Amino acid sequence: MLSMLAQLAIGAIDLAAAFLLIYGLKRMSSPVTAPSGIFVAGIGMLAAIVASFLYVFAVRAAALPHLPVNVGLAIAALVIGGGAAWWSGKKVAMTSMPQMVALYNGMGGGAAAAIAAVELLSNQAQGVTALSITLIGALIGAVSLSGSLIAWAKLDGVIEHPLRIKGQQILNGLMMLATLAVGGYIVFLTQTGSVPLLPVSDLIYLFFACALVFGVLMTLPIGGADMPVVISIYNAFTGLAVGLEGFVLQNPALMIAGMVVGAAGLLLTLLMAKAMNRSVSNVVFTNFGAIVKAKPGAIKGDLKPVDAGDAGIFMRYASTVIIVPGYGLAVAHGQQKLYEFVKLLQAAGVKVKFAVHPVAGRMPGQMDVLLAEANVPYDMIFQLEDINDEFSHTDAVLVIGANDVVNPAARTDKSSPIFGMPILNVDQAKQVYVVKRGEGRGYAGIVNALFYGENCNMVYGDAQAVLIKMIEAVRGLGPVGN
Ligand code: NDP
Repeated sequence: MLSMLAQLAIGAIDLAAAFLLIYGLKRMSSPVTAPSGIFVAGIGMLAAIVASFLYVFAVRAAALPHLPVNVGLAIAALVIGGGAAWWSGKKVAMTSMPQMVALYNGMGGGAAAAIAAVELLSNQAQGVTALSITLIGALIGAVSLSGSLIAWAKLDGVIEHPLRIKGQQILNGLMMLATLAVGGYIVFLTQTGSVPLLPVSDLIYLFFACALVFGVLMTLPIGGADMPVVISIYNAFTGLAVGLEGFVLQNPALMIAGMVVGAAGLLLTLLMAKAMNRSVSNVVFTNFGAIVKAKPGAIKGDLKPVDAGDAGIFMRYASTVIIVPGYGLAVAHGQQKLYEFVKLLQAAGVKVKFAVHPVAGRMPGQMDVLLAEANVPYDMIFQLEDINDEFSHTDAVLVIGANDVVNPAARTDKSSPIFGMPILNVDQAKQVYVVKRGEGRGYAGIVNALFYGENCNMVYGDAQAVLIKMIEAVRGLGPVGN
């Protein structure tokens, strides 16, 4: 009776959890509803965790001792893992979010691989289909774990340069084949009952080792500039692995959550690849992302520094201003001061818009989140395709902490690593002010011809400090009408 009730409760909770996850994801598609979407999906996740504990009641008392379940250990893991996630989530800087996403994504892949390991080692996956699906889930989960950890190390600067060796792709191909061969051999042995070369458990360990090494080898040669796309691919992998393990366990919540994550990761991968004008295979199989030094003499003109106050006053008397935020704004925590400055401009009758590039910052949507944090109204924020035609008839553009996303080399220089990436047409504006600390390069490590243009002036300094000076200068003019 108790087991029947528990099974009913699990079914109902799983269904509710799946609904909450899908509904939460839907709400995350707009910055306005995203915070509540995250909350709703979190409740769904909590419900799914509660349901998983009910499994203990859903099996008959006689079968309980044979279940590979240890409730005490599961609770300890939840407390330690949940506590660490809570603490790191509170502490993490906005600029370190991509590393955190990479790390958590790796944990998801690792969890899927761990479920598969339990199924394989306890001989729960019976039959060719179930065994093959478990092995595929294990492979994808393990690749996602080790690949995401390398992506984390690259984003965090622990690994500074892509590590490439001659014949890398052949080596990667061989490693992939070796992993598949070990997996195929495991299926063959368990189906035919032949005498194994090694104990099957050792073969399972070997399979995981090969998959983990494959994830490392696949990610090491990929350049830092491609890491967002790579993380997104691994995100899709993690979802797929979780979904496959859910299929083997016949757990609907796991299946639905896995497929939703997999589909979302896949769509994000395609969108980001499109934003960088790259194909996904080009990201994974070519050596993009290397730091490229500018060719000597390739850039003409001089850098022309101006005072922050003068730049602020120029914009105060302009009719139209577009603001292009980038990674440096997040570093400087300058978003509040930026909006304060914008409100001063608006009070003086200036029409102000924000132009956001899809890969500005260090993670998708980072600039939208940053501007939302400062309470910038959403109707002032425009995406690249909606605003790019306006730069040529805009009085002044303020580029604040952005670099690669406004680099015209993407349009003209075939040898540039960002060639083909759509950029914001800032160079076409009448007057451009670029705020940055010095002559630091952007993420792709290349020189930016925009800064040397006739229409461009540099305002050197930390973004927040520069904005404070601009605000003071505009306020110093007195009330509007003077
Ligand atoms: P960039 O990294 O190209 O440039 C940032 C600029 O900000 C630098 O030139 C730096 O110059 C300046 N800067 C840094 N700190 C400060 C500060 N405190 N105050 C003022 N300026 C500062 O940023 P973009 O946003 O233009 O481009 C994003 C790049 O990151 C793209 O190449 C993209 O592909 C890549 N990427 C994007 C991800 C995403 O998902 N959005 C994830 C990972 C990478 P200086 O040192 O002189 O101050």
